[in-house]
Amino acid sequence: MIPAVMPTYGRWDVAVERGEGLQLYATDGRKFLDFTSGIGVTGLGHCHPHVIAALSEQAKRLWHTSNLFRIPGQEKLAQRLVDNTFADTVFFGNSGAEACELAIKVARKYQSETGHPERYRVIGCQGSFHGRTFATLAAAGNEAYLKGFGPPMEGFDHVAFGNLNEMRAAVGKETAAIMVEPIQGEGGVRAAPEGYLKGLRDIADEFGLMLVYDEVQCGMGRTGKLFAHEWEGVPPDIMAVAKALGNGFPVGACLATERAAVGMVAGTHGSTFGGNPLAMAAGNAVLDTMLEPGFFVRVGQMAKLLRRRLETFAVSYPKLFAEVRGAGLLVGIRCVVPAADVVAKLRQNGLLTLTAGDNVLRILPPLIVSERDIDEALDIMNKVAREWPA
Ligand SMILES: *Cc1c(COP(=O)(O)O)cnc(C)c1O
Repeated sequence: MIPAVMPTYGRWDVAVERGEGLQLYATDGRKFLDFTSGIGVTGLGHCHPHVIAALSEQAKRLWHTSNLFRIPGQEKLAQRLVDNTFADTVFFGNSGAEACELAIKVARKYQSETGHPERYRVIGCQGSFHGRTFATLAAAGNEAYLKGFGPPMEGFDHVAFGNLNEMRAAVGKETAAIMVEPIQGEGGVRAAPEGYLKGLRDIADEFGLMLVYDEVQCGMGRTGKLFAHEWEGVPPDIMAVAKALGNGFPVGACLATERAAVGMVAGTHGSTFGGNPLAMAAGNAVLDTMLEPGFFVRVGQMAKLLRRRLETFAVSYPKLFAEVRGAGLLVGIRCVVPAADVVAKLRQNGLLTLTAGDNVLRILPPLIVSERDIDEALDIMNKVAREWPA
């Protein structure tokens, strides 16, 4: 008999009940050290006091009005994102997929508004993940996720991630945009090679294309800057953000320059729940915390420490692990043994981690991770590796 909850996930047998910082407590009394952050969402850890306070305060005041009204929290959060990024304007939705969908819409609309209605195709990269809606599935082109759902939405091309020659060769008369994750998350924790974003920017500018970044997973402080592309100093025209923006309260955002958003006038897009007062309270509370002086310095220090420890760890067990990759606190270890088995064993020992494509063990601790947490995680990892059946 089908379970009451539609069985679309391969779920762990852990019924979660309560969280605090990096600790996650199950209903059966088990306690876990959470190095998943709810798949890159709870960047400030579980039940962050400032986010709780902001959300509780807002919950007593006003939940929802619709976007027929001005929403002060939206105006504030949008302005702060504008002040801290390449963007001039922001649309709020409820998820990463919606943010990516809108990014595609904005890119196509830009072309149609600026005299190129024939340009609608988007070039993406193999190994990408942009969400589970029809357009975002087609944008990523992952056959496994598309299978059985009818013809994939038309208008998407794919090239190898990191290869500028392939990207340039794929540009045609109908190309509207290039869409990439600066660091691929689900696809295997792959950082773009140095110079890649700059190369994409040049191709986009040469052919009049929109450059779209999907920073749903790698953004919001994950790499030690507010957004991952800041490391290369190469701005996009449009960017999708979600996951850690609300620290667990559903909120996504599509950021754009004024030039890119030229066609996005009244009536061109909307969302019932998008940008509602609760979501905006959460988003603003997250930014309050992340924009505090020193926050990213500390993330950078912890990232460096974790990276060093993981590299030492991985080389100690060459029969189990290959290279360490990723950036900041979005780290992967490509495994020799099945990554899913490693994740299961770690979980049995109290440490929560994830898998990613390419047989990668994905490690995404909250940005508030401490040296002690890293020590504890590495102790568990070493124990599991030592005890691994030969
Ligand atoms: C998770 C993710 C998405 C989809 O976000 P949802 O909120 O699940 O729709 C899109 N892009 C990237 C890079 C992601 O990691």
